[in-house]
Amino acid sequence: MAKTIEIDEQISVGALASLLDLPVSKLIAELFKNGVMATVNENIDFDTAQIIVGELDLPEVELAKKVQTGPAARVKRETSKDASLRPPVVAVMGHVDHGKTSLLDAIRGAEVVKGEAGGITQHLSAYQAEHKGRLLTFIDTPGHEAFAALREHGARLTDLVVLVVAADEGIKPQTIEAIRFAKNAGVKIIVAANKMDKPDADINRLKQQLSENELMPDDWGGDTVVLPVSAKTKEGLPELLDMVVLVADVEELKADTGGPAQGIIIESHMETGRGRVAIALVEQGTLSAGDFVVAGSTYAKVRNLETTTGEVLKSAGPSTPVIITGLKELPDFGEEFFVVGSEKEARDKAAEKNQIKKDDGAASTTSGSELLRIISRTNKLNEFNIIVKADVQGSLTSVVDSLRALDTEEVAVKIVSSGVGVISESDVHSAATSGAIIYGFHTNLPASLKQLAARDHVPIRLYSVIYELIDDVKKELESLLAPEVIEQVTGALIVKGIFKLSPTQAIIGGEVTKGKLVVPALARLSRAKETIADELEVTNLKRGPTDVKEVQTGEMSGLSLKTEAKLDVAEGDRLELYTRETKTRTL
Ligand code: GDP
Repeated sequence: MAKTIEIDEQISVGALASLLDLPVSKLIAELFKNGVMATVNENIDFDTAQIIVGELDLPEVELAKKVQTGPAARVKRETSKDASLRPPVVAVMGHVDHGKTSLLDAIRGAEVVKGEAGGITQHLSAYQAEHKGRLLTFIDTPGHEAFAALREHGARLTDLVVLVVAADEGIKPQTIEAIRFAKNAGVKIIVAANKMDKPDADINRLKQQLSENELMPDDWGGDTVVLPVSAKTKEGLPELLDMVVLVADVEELKADTGGPAQGIIIESHMETGRGRVAIALVEQGTLSAGDFVVAGSTYAKVRNLETTTGEVLKSAGPSTPVIITGLKELPDFGEEFFVVGSEKEARDKAAEKNQIKKDDGAASTTSGSELLRIISRTNKLNEFNIIVKADVQGSLTSVVDSLRALDTEEVAVKIVSSGVGVISESDVHSAATSGAIIYGFHTNLPASLKQLAARDHVPIRLYSVIYELIDDVKKELESLLAPEVIEQVTGALIVKGIFKLSPTQAIIGGEVTKGKLVVPALARLSRAKETIADELEVTNLKRGPTDVKEVQTGEMSGLSLKTEAKLDVAEGDRLELYTRETKTRTL
């Protein structure tokens, strides 16, 4: 069955190669054959992409233009015309201790879903709250992992980010990190200036800092809404929720409720008495009690469907976080889930996935295309993201300086973070979210993190010789450069006869006046020094009635050209034949 790949009106060559799972060089070469000179970072339009996919002979792939649903349109599942409005999925992010948890709990305490009693103490990673009759789904992002996993798996479920910044402290490193994640995912940000009850809260200083970090407040002429709130006094919370509803309305978030459910696992853990518990966010369709759910390499029969606050449900529609129990194993964070018809099917699908996982685990080196995939995830193909760890400050500085020196106009080395010491769990998380490769110099990866790195597909490379590390980065950068094109003219002919002109083909004849004609070749047609057509593919060469591979100067020759429209050719025109070769470039 054909797989439909949705792309925007414009797509970069690198991103398309990654979606098609092709080496970027192959795509560039194919574009090239079709007369499009594009580097990895350049955009091509939808029509060109479609033609190229046709030329590449990928019968199993079909391209479709992505439907734009608003300014922050992202990769979403396709919806039918019967789709109905769904609650927005809101991720709450921010620097540690800025009040993320307090804010989420305050919202939940203040505007709890009907039927839920007070006295909640346990913190939840996802829940729904009601505001003025509208359901809103909130997800917490512990250490940004949930968000990273969501992005990583391409689900891009988050519709909106509430960025919590303590107004007394202002922007901190994790705030900036959160801004980057949200921007990369194309998600709209609402800033909650928290702790406004504190005497040293200063919203103007915060606005100044936001404006320096690509978030210009709307009252300063930008488009970022900054709302003063206090999780402690609950001041500003209704206004914050009003804004969430407003943004959701603008985006007209829709999903299909009919059909079996699909979605994503946003948390999984062991619980005494209940065993394996997963929190799943339904993305599309309706999940019902009794359904068989496959989540990655594990599955379950959903016996009791519950909200995250313990309310029993018969069924759950799009944007609803639910608890699934009875899983055979703990599913991974960010794993997609879907409903199948029977227990046997569920078992088979899970086993299939398990096998793929094992196969993936066997390959440890990063190939060029994988690298590209990693890089395209950051949406900035011209940036090669790196995390550097070294044993001592001195060597760290020299590694970082040497890597920075490798920057070129086409590919930039971006050092996501660097530090002294062993590779840490936070390095691995950060690499997974930014699509970075971790380079360690005279340091190591603790055995306990190997599995995490493998699970998150984070490439980690360790070196004890500095120039080997630099060489490796250089090689990776080189693989991202567009190849050099070498053109060589082999011969020319003066047109003496025109035998056939159709929209797709021209058959002409003439005398070879220079060099020799050879096939395969491309041809350029000119009249009085003016080029009329170029990059015509020569498909056949004849001397008299015989097909030949080459014709020398002074001889008469006939040739067939592949054209895109009826060729404007006349007797006396000059046809120059040339070949092109691509050569990998070096830095
Ligand atoms: P998180 O790490 O971002 O989840 O932050 P927490 O919600 O755990 O809050 C960190 C600390 O700030 C706690 O001691 C909270 O009581 C306090 N806090 C959170 N919000 C407010 C607020 O609006 N005002 C005041 N005064 N303290 C707050």
